[in-house]
Amino acid sequence: MKDIDSLVRPNIAKLTPYSTARDEYKGEIGVFIDANENPFQNGYNRYPDPRQTELKKQISAIKNVPVENMFIGNGSDEAIDLCFRIFCNPGVDNAIAIAPSYGMYRVSADINDVEMREVRLNDDFSLPVERLLEAADEHSKLMFLCSPNNPSGNSFPFDEMLALIDGFNGIVVVDEAYIDFASQPSLLTVLGEHKNLIVMQTLSKAYGMAALRLGLAFASKEIMLHFANVKYPYNINLAGMQQAYDLLKRDVKSEVEMIKSERARVAEALNGMSNIKKIYPSDANFILVKVDDADTIYDRLIEQKIIVRNRTRVVGCKDCLRITIGTPEENDKLIEELSKIDNSKSRIIE
Ligand SMILES: *Cc1c(COP(=O)(O)O)cnc(C)c1O
Repeated sequence: MKDIDSLVRPNIAKLTPYSTARDEYKGEIGVFIDANENPFQNGYNRYPDPRQTELKKQISAIKNVPVENMFIGNGSDEAIDLCFRIFCNPGVDNAIAIAPSYGMYRVSADINDVEMREVRLNDDFSLPVERLLEAADEHSKLMFLCSPNNPSGNSFPFDEMLALIDGFNGIVVVDEAYIDFASQPSLLTVLGEHKNLIVMQTLSKAYGMAALRLGLAFASKEIMLHFANVKYPYNINLAGMQQAYDLLKRDVKSEVEMIKSERARVAEALNGMSNIKKIYPSDANFILVKVDDADTIYDRLIEQKIIVRNRTRVVGCKDCLRITIGTPEENDKLIEELSKIDNSKSRIIE
């Protein structure tokens, strides 16, 4: 395993980061005439904490990860982008990702002019460990895994992900956006043992704060230092931090449990329908279903004002729809409309 420093781009390794006025003086009281702010208080006239210390402490208690091993970004998308900017020399280095998976890995690679090598999952969406390792060369800096995976919904076995973390000579990013819905634990439990591991989570899904744009990355202190140096100084605004601080006090467990039981109920209801060809097992808050004709069913649902995600043009997902688990009432409506489509279709066949 290469040491982390040798994986970091030279310009980032020697970067002198921007130092904010609030970095230099951290006291609470005083006359603050250091940052060219408007001095009249309105709740938002001061620059926010560039390190998000209070919010990090709260997340630290929930996730059981020290503050120094944590980064908060403007959504996971910022954390993904930072991985490319910190580790990949544009036009030289490459990254590896599973396919199908979350679309932002490729978009972010393209924006940063980094070659993305997508490795097809096996037909049953299991992890092709050998092929992922074979895709790497000396310029491979990042490998993106997503578990539970979007859009397939399955989690990958711990030992297979650990084989990739140990076997890959670069940084392995494991995106756990849906971990709160999964039956297996987070890789956060082994974060300290793997220097080349970055675990990403988000407040957008189970925690119900998609609009606040708060993504999380967890890694060694060394990696997190580079994240802190490269990010925009005030990447998280005060209003968002305060809202998250309050919303994190509520118990999301009951909502997650409700979503999981609804996931089972929806899968069960769809199971008997003749136009549903396959329901993939899900560890997430959505289910991927293979239907006989995804475009037709997608359009019919739109007519009924039900919007699902048509994944039929995604590699390995021909005729697949990705359906987010909604409220019980929303799920009822979906089941009702799908069964109507099912009945009208069987009449046509008759
Ligand atoms: C939804 C999702 C995210 C969340 O992204 P945010 O920018 O934090 O909202 C991250 N990864 C995957 C795989 C997702 O599906």
